[in-house]
Amino acid sequence: MFLHGTSSVNDKGHLEIGGVDTLEIVKEFGTPVYVYDVALIRERARGFKETFDKLGVKAQVAYASKAFSTVAMIQLVEQEGLSLDVVSGGELYTALAAEFPVEKIHFHGNNKSREELAMALEHEIGCIVVDNFHELKMLEELCREKEVKANILLRVTPGIEAHTHDYILTGQEDSKFGFDLQNGQAESALKIGIHSDFLNLLGIHCHIGSQIFETTGFILAARKIFEKLNDWKETYSYEVKVLNLGGGFGIRYTNEDAPIPASQYVDEIIQEVKEQAKIFDMEIPEIWIEPGRSLVGDAGTTLYQVGSRKEVPNVRNYLAVDGGMSDNIRPALYEAKYEAVLANRPLDEVEETVSIAGKCCESGDMLIWDIPLPRAGKEDVLAVFCTGAYGYSMANNYNRIPKPPVVFVENGQVTLVVRRETYADLVRHDLPLKVKAQNK
Ligand SMILES: *Cc1c(COP(=O)(O)O)cnc(C)c1O
Repeated sequence: MFLHGTSSVNDKGHLEIGGVDTLEIVKEFGTPVYVYDVALIRERARGFKETFDKLGVKAQVAYASKAFSTVAMIQLVEQEGLSLDVVSGGELYTALAAEFPVEKIHFHGNNKSREELAMALEHEIGCIVVDNFHELKMLEELCREKEVKANILLRVTPGIEAHTHDYILTGQEDSKFGFDLQNGQAESALKIGIHSDFLNLLGIHCHIGSQIFETTGFILAARKIFEKLNDWKETYSYEVKVLNLGGGFGIRYTNEDAPIPASQYVDEIIQEVKEQAKIFDMEIPEIWIEPGRSLVGDAGTTLYQVGSRKEVPNVRNYLAVDGGMSDNIRPALYEAKYEAVLANRPLDEVEETVSIAGKCCESGDMLIWDIPLPRAGKEDVLAVFCTGAYGYSMANNYNRIPKPPVVFVENGQVTLVVRRETYADLVRHDLPLKVKAQNK
């Protein structure tokens, strides 16, 4: 059994996280419930920050809050001194509700609305990562109207796509995001940026993928960008202050995944940037990175009550739990894999291979295929590990299933940070048919 962070088996033989017995959490908050190991989030955050500090480079580590955005999480991000990425008015609103320092908020997205941009300007957030010409124009107009100057980065697509264990080099990248670096679009955008009285072009951003396990993709992206930076320095006398290399650092979901430590990503990225700056005789820019999954992914565990069981002789045994694709859509969406144990008896011997089904009316609603477990039944609690990123944040009300609560655990303390949705919450926005006053 692989245990992350502060997870352990206590003297009652139960799974414990953050010094709290998971069965006590179930007793108090019911199931399903998301449990976050706060100490592990802090450890991950420090892992990134300390490497930059040690190597003496100017940097910002921005938590990509789309991975898991709630007020308490954002307060934790502030405590750890990170910056914050948001990708919508809703995520920005959440950050503001958490009173996150606005100057450390960066706004992403390939189709920000005029209202969202206005909101960003009104709250004077640190930086807007401009994705396309439409946005560039709209932002400039808004700044002109409001007589303000916005800090921006330009998102470029360097023609490198990283996928887990390999990367793909493409001349023209077929992506909905960013200005193409090769075909001149990035340069056109740059010209607009540097000549505008209302935009302060801090530098360049790129994000090459997700769940990446090596540094080659980041290094190749940095090289491609520096080649262009050198051209732009010669042509426009423009030098970037900031180079943002995005997120996507991989984590261990199952033993098929072998992540490298944060320090290694950071270290190798910094070495390459220093090397490139030296080759082209440029100042070393500030390096920004944007981890999402790698800050919260393995800190999250979902607890479910086991329910029905279906045995298909000579084919497969199904064990159903009281959640599913409504609280974790990643297996259905990406064929994502997870590990799990019985929280009430994690050390019991494995007796069978079962598949964990959700309770939604959808054959694709499976959480785990073929996992070895003790023979489990309705008195058991299943703990699925590594659900901290893109679990709650992608949760939905399919089948009108209320979203589970979120609790933080740390040093033996449990804090409820998102309450369970109620049935009343589900109909909160529903309006009745207008009944015509016919017979009056
Ligand atoms: C999603 C995203 C991230 C974070 O990705 P992770 O895989 O969660 O680390 C960072 N930057 C941008 C621009 C993103 O879209």
